[in-house]
Amino acid sequence: MSTPPKSSPVNLSHGRGYLAIPGPSVMPEAVLNAMHRPAPNIYSGALVDMMPPLMQGLRDIARTQHHVAMYIGNGHAAWEASLSNVIAPGDKVLVPATGRFGHGWGDTATGLGADVEVMDFGKQSAMDLDQIADRLEADTAHEIKAVLAVHVDTSTSVRNDIAGVRAALDAVDHPALLMADCIASFGCDIFEMDRWGVDVMVTGCQKGLMVPPGVSFVFFNDRAAEVRAKMTRVSRFWDWTPRANPQEFYQYHCGTAPTHHIYGLQVAVDMIKTEGVEAVWARHATLARAVWAACEAWGTEGTLAMNIADPALRSHAVTALRLEAPQATQLREWVQENIGLTLGIGLGMAPPGSAESHGFFRLGHMGHVNGQMIMGLLGGIEAGMSALGIKRGPGALDAAAKVIGGS
Ligand SMILES: *Cc1c(COP(=O)(O)O)cnc(C)c1O
Repeated sequence: MSTPPKSSPVNLSHGRGYLAIPGPSVMPEAVLNAMHRPAPNIYSGALVDMMPPLMQGLRDIARTQHHVAMYIGNGHAAWEASLSNVIAPGDKVLVPATGRFGHGWGDTATGLGADVEVMDFGKQSAMDLDQIADRLEADTAHEIKAVLAVHVDTSTSVRNDIAGVRAALDAVDHPALLMADCIASFGCDIFEMDRWGVDVMVTGCQKGLMVPPGVSFVFFNDRAAEVRAKMTRVSRFWDWTPRANPQEFYQYHCGTAPTHHIYGLQVAVDMIKTEGVEAVWARHATLARAVWAACEAWGTEGTLAMNIADPALRSHAVTALRLEAPQATQLREWVQENIGLTLGIGLGMAPPGSAESHGFFRLGHMGHVNGQMIMGLLGGIEAGMSALGIKRGPGALDAAAKVIGGS
């Protein structure tokens, strides 16, 4: 947008960059190296043998004993896939939206002919479970077939209580399917598909899973499979039934496999398994607290503020921030041009391109990130604000270092 007042006299952007946007996330060398290989045989051999353990590894991360179907496509594909199996034209779905992604999933449902009812909880709040409970209670005819709940909305960085939505359904014995979007939270924030009573869950590979964008997943339980079985028609490509069988996936039903992604995924899933999924969650939680501590310190003077005020409602993978327009854009441009750091744009907070839109940005801290990277991210932001003369409170890096250092 605008040219920052001055650049560093020496360009400090060469060296390894850090893409600190909320997806695609930083990709481990081990994942990229695993993908760097000649085309494998798709009919037999290593690729086919890899599938059952890979599917099991994914189920372990999702905390489910049930089924997982893989698609070539991004998160939007998983949205469409999930709905295509259980929602027929005319079916009613309830979308408690807490940012742009709830609206996006709802819009996908509209495109498939569903009757979509959005409950909009704004851009700075989590879902209000009482309001959802009231709406479900009022639906005595059980017209609502599914509740589409985004776990972490990546635009606002709010984290919703998915188990609470299940409790609201159960409290009134409502049979609607609980469908969760975990695209931004999978492998980052605590998620327990079976324990929380989630029937369908969608995720992608380019956020917590640390793999280049291109494959996505729909997890579903037996209740959802029963709903699928009663559908009069499901398009062949989106049908999850053959895809949930790892042998068939490769053979005849779904076309050419995403060969190289499978190699990358296997490494990523193994990395998560080796670290331990709880340890992965704990790492994200601590790194997020370091980010918040710095943001709080900065926010004591000037205009920088976290979009979600209550720490209990914040994502551990992404932080949405406000900074008086146009400073957010100036800061992003400065760190990009001068120090090799890329921050996320604000999304869904103001009309794209409007003056107001330059007052929002986001930090991705998901996947393959560690303590020194987060200190580098925060230090880079400090440098940018210093260069641009952006007013801010002192002590941000000290506050983050205390969290990272455990003191
Ligand atoms: C990234 C994201 C999506 C969309 O995924 P794409 O791969 O960009 O299609 C959907 N929902 C959430 C919560 C996301 O973070």
